[in-house]
Amino acid sequence: MNQVSTGKNIFSGNGIGIDHLLNSIQTGVIIHGPDLELLYCNSAARKLLSLQDEEISLLTLMCRCKNLVGADGMPVSPDMIPCNTALQTRVPVEGVVLGIPVCDNVATTWFMVHSVPVLDENGEVIEIVSSFNDITALKEAEEKLNWLYQNLEARAYELASSNADMEKFVAVATHDLQEPLRLISSFLQLLKMKYTEKLDARAQEYIGYAVEGAQRMKKLILDLLEYAKFRNNREGFTDVNSGLVLKSVLVSLEESISKNRATVESGPLPQVYADPALLEQLFENLIGNSLKYRGSQDPMIRIACEETQGEFQFSVSDNGIGIKPEYSDKIFNLFERLHNNESFEGTGVGLAICEKIARLHRGSIGVHSEPGKGSTFYFTIPKCQ
Ligand code: ADP
Repeated sequence: MNQVSTGKNIFSGNGIGIDHLLNSIQTGVIIHGPDLELLYCNSAARKLLSLQDEEISLLTLMCRCKNLVGADGMPVSPDMIPCNTALQTRVPVEGVVLGIPVCDNVATTWFMVHSVPVLDENGEVIEIVSSFNDITALKEAEEKLNWLYQNLEARAYELASSNADMEKFVAVATHDLQEPLRLISSFLQLLKMKYTEKLDARAQEYIGYAVEGAQRMKKLILDLLEYAKFRNNREGFTDVNSGLVLKSVLVSLEESISKNRATVESGPLPQVYADPALLEQLFENLIGNSLKYRGSQDPMIRIACEETQGEFQFSVSDNGIGIKPEYSDKIFNLFERLHNNESFEGTGVGLAICEKIARLHRGSIGVHSEPGKGSTFYFTIPKCQ
């Protein structure tokens, strides 16, 4: 709103037209004279301030009301009320939030108030035009949003510190577990080396089992450590050619692929927004599993990608032993295995890490499988990250 300096009362001249105009708008308009006497009040102002006609003469609300509070809920002094400020400073006052407590101060009606002084040719104030809108709903929404934000911040802080505690706990536990394990392993080796002649075949067999157990425990601890160290941050995300990522995975699995006499095929793979190292790990775990859980036929592994409206859906299919449908969710849990170590070696951590990787990419992971026929693992990466 600009400072008006016409030197004329706005009701002079075409006053009736202006009165019609001011009564047809939703914004409250009050005009005070230079002594803060009321000159005009439109119908929206009466409605917004819930004033009866007989109260209008008392309408000093926007300039002298004792109960007015500021945006912070604290009482405002008279010189902070916009029409008083505009009268004193002779410059427009804009966007002041004022509240009028209603119903025994339990609730407050909030207004956004602007006051503009109208000056004569000598620069003297002849009128102050105040306009205001009810912003109670807006203010309530803002307060609710602030409350939610503060709650969210507190929760994020709690979560971060409990995560940090957990990480510390796992790091210490796994480190401390490795020490006695090293001790057990080396004394078992010593026992085997020094007393081979004195021990009978059964004792040697038992020592062999114990060594195997210790090695397995070591693998479990290292895998658990890898799972616990998984960082939930997206700092390494970039545009990645997933076809090139797959190529590098196939190079690192070359030995295992040829040992298993496996055929690996791939369709065209897209450019995605991903963490290349994690995408590599995801492919490596899934293809590695297809090689490990092979059936009696030579493994046939196919990697493909389908593009849907909002995401890329990658799939790794094999003709391996398959999985019963009732286990298709469980296998993504930590340490969940469907076989013992005699049939297939493993720790049950690989798919749990795959699930974490898919989640970090804001995608999902799952499997369709038929026992004896093979499995198709799929994971999605949204196009819009
Ligand atoms: P691990 O291979 O170390 O056991 P994973 O987390 O990679 O751990 O897999 C969990 C379980 O899911 C495996 O023990 C296996 O039973 C099953 N599984 C995973 N991939 C396949 C697959 N391609 N075909 C059949 N079973 C699978």
